[in-house]
Amino acid sequence: MSKKITIAIDGFSSTGKSTIAKLLAKKYNYVYVDTGAMYRAVTLFAKQNGFVDKDSLKKEALIQCLDKVTLSFCFNDELGFAEMFLNDKNVENEIRTLEVSQLVSKVAAISEVRKKLVAEQQNMGRDGGVVMDGRDIGTVVFPDADLKLFMAASADKRATRRYKELIDKGDKVSFEDILFNVQERDRIDSTRKDSPLVKADDAIEFDNSDMTIEEQFERICSLVDQKLAKS
Ligand code: C5P
Repeated sequence: MSKKITIAIDGFSSTGKSTIAKLLAKKYNYVYVDTGAMYRAVTLFAKQNGFVDKDSLKKEALIQCLDKVTLSFCFNDELGFAEMFLNDKNVENEIRTLEVSQLVSKVAAISEVRKKLVAEQQNMGRDGGVVMDGRDIGTVVFPDADLKLFMAASADKRATRRYKELIDKGDKVSFEDILFNVQERDRIDSTRKDSPLVKADDAIEFDNSDMTIEEQFERICSLVDQKLAKS
């Protein structure tokens, strides 16, 4: 019998990592962990407590309070994925706003925040059978992951997808703001000192600018099946 493998999906903002990760988790009956949701939840906590806004970041004050941040995922059968809870409150919608997206990369650059979340992520994936998406999964969280994917797409395509998602949810946002946010997050995420977004040497890169979800999923499933056959 083949073992349960670890699948790491990294890449730029809004490249459809979570869509592919959710489909893989469903097909192979694996646990999906959205690590971006965890950084978003810490950012929401920081915002609610006045530690971060668009002009400032009270880094030391946030670090002092990190032990008051409890994160958990709770599977929602209707939605078919796990929702993010911050201190026992469902924050799944609140963490997806443009406002949180505009602050999250500043908070995610703090080493103490990363240390706490990486430890939790390693714990969640320690038995394998996990699909985890983020920015540092194949490089830092699971450098020995069985399969590493790195997703990229043009900024314009990514902003268009994200814009549609937010408009469909009823958010009032402009395309220009979304495009700027996608590019700005990539810049901060790729240039930060601690665990910058880089492609792991052994990751397989997908530029999905001109690929449908179905095409990507089919190709990725064949990679997973090859790994499973060898394990
Ligand atoms: O994946 P998502 O776009 O929701 O991630 C939000 C932000 O969280 C990223 O732009 C990045 O700043 C941070 N992040 C990170 N490391 C991860 C996952 C997300 O720094 N593993």
